[in-house]
Amino acid sequence: MKCVCPECKNDIDVSKHPKITKGYVIECPLCGIVLEVVSLDGDKVALEIVDEGK
Ligand SMILES: [Zn+2]
Repeated sequence: MKCVCPECKNDIDVSKHPKITKGYVIECPLCGIVLEVVSLDGDKVALEIVDEGK
């Protein structure tokens, strides 16, 4: 599986998240932004930035 942070365009290693599914929340290890999985298509993961704390 492969996903790219929409903020910093860095590849995120999702192998640490074996239970990844729609609605799953990941923190980008590079920029620290919080991302939610919005869709899973084959081995591609689409992410959306979560606007937290507002
Ligand atoms: Zn990032």
